[in-house]
Amino acid sequence: MAKHFLAQTKLRERLYFAISLGIFLIVFFYLEERVGSSATALAILPVFVGSWFFGVSGGLLAASISLMMSIMILYFGSNTGSWAIFFQKGWVGTLSLFTIPILVGYLKHLEGQYKEKIDRSNQLIYALTHVASQMKISSDPDAVMDLMGKELDILGLKALVTLFIPGSQEMEIRYTSLDPDIIKKFERLAKNKKIGEFRISAKDLPADLNLAKNQHPMLLHNYEKAVSALLPGFSTEIIRRIVSSIKFAEKSLIGHSPLIYKEINLGFLWLWGENLQEEDLDALSIFATQVASTLENARLFAELQDLALTDGLTKLYTRRHFFELAYEEFYRARRYGHPLSILMLDLDYFKKINDTYGHLAGDTVLEKTADICKTVLRTHDIIGRYGGEEFVILLVETNLSSARNVAERVNQLLANTPIQTNKGAIHLTISGGVAGDNVEELNLIEMIELADQALYAAKEAGRNNIQVAEPSLLSD
Ligand code: GH3
Ligand code: MG
Ligand code: MG
Repeated sequence: MAKHFLAQTKLRERLYFAISLGIFLIVFFYLEERVGSSATALAILPVFVGSWFFGVSGGLLAASISLMMSIMILYFGSNTGSWAIFFQKGWVGTLSLFTIPILVGYLKHLEGQYKEKIDRSNQLIYALTHVASQMKISSDPDAVMDLMGKELDILGLKALVTLFIPGSQEMEIRYTSLDPDIIKKFERLAKNKKIGEFRISAKDLPADLNLAKNQHPMLLHNYEKAVSALLPGFSTEIIRRIVSSIKFAEKSLIGHSPLIYKEINLGFLWLWGENLQEEDLDALSIFATQVASTLENARLFAELQDLALTDGLTKLYTRRHFFELAYEEFYRARRYGHPLSILMLDLDYFKKINDTYGHLAGDTVLEKTADICKTVLRTHDIIGRYGGEEFVILLVETNLSSARNVAERVNQLLANTPIQTNKGAIHLTISGGVAGDNVEELNLIEMIELADQALYAAKEAGRNNIQVAEPSLLSD
């Protein structure tokens, strides 16, 4: 695209030069016929060169000098050379000298203006490509947007990103590089609603911003209309106050670019700044494509990472990740001599639930049981899915008797909470085994083994109960 712009610039420059040369030649041949080519060349060449390189004023200056020389030669009575005749015979032509600076100079001026715009667009493309390549390094969508905002700030551009909330037709403002002070003011005007809590209903957006109807990037000229599309339900008065607080530069534009990746609408990106102009639309469009792919890749990467760490159904840690976290806690407990306990839980007669209500209802039971377990735990406790319907919990800073209490609470809560499924409410119980406290004598695996034996004992004892492990149970 940058190349395309450069080619366009060259083409324009050549076109303007050709038109200027045409004007030059017409005047040249007209004068040549009247006063001869050498005098014409002497008079008109500096005018042409002056016009092309120094614009209208340079050309007018050269034309005036030519005219004055012609008059002076005539005045001093010299009739040598055709210079004198130039003015005498060719006064129409002499005046036409002045058409060259005006026309050529003007063309040059237009060309210069155009070139300046294209140069800026090129600069923007290079700068935005740099921003995009920086973003590719990151694998977290929020970090990507943060980096983008900082880099754009250097270019004098502000950004706002709205993204669809997964599985919904609503978007949220996921990022903006507006000053924190302005954001605070904004939130105050919105009765202390946080900027991230605004919801933008995709179908209520005006047609030009509605991603279902228009997927082309464009430049928005009307700030009030644009901001009110983001904040439906706000009064015109509040919208005006918000717009004035943002202090948009007069006549500045907002670049609106849908973020689309493989035909999926992710949301949109707004960029604005002092110098944004019509010519920047292509650059913005390319940039938005890169932002969309970077954001989507970062999201997919985060999702993959999450899959490796948490179980898809219960959202508990996978067995492997549980062990990674548990080992850290275990060694910390050992180093500082703090207590720590392990709790193993297993759903009672779960196979029967599957057989009676179906696997789907079984899944729901498993998922909700995990949620219920979590409500009893503290934030630092670690819970993982140990096997099919078996959970393992590491309770930090917890001695055996407290661990037993936690286990009893989980057991009671589950026994008293029928689980709602598509096959109706299902009543379920759980058995548990507790071990721990003595981090000096046991290692983590031994502790888990003990808890597992206690769990087995609980099953033996008729299920729906909690057993505490005796270290002597540990088989060698
Ligand atoms: P016990 O009281 O002795 O624990 O009996 P149980 O039926 O719970 O134990 P068992 O080990 O015989 O059966 C466990 C069942 O859990 C068998 C398996 O199909 C089911 N299960 C394991 N993972 C999942 C899962 O992700 N979803 C569903 N629906 N069932 C699962
Ligand atoms: Mg079971
Ligand atoms: Mg089991």
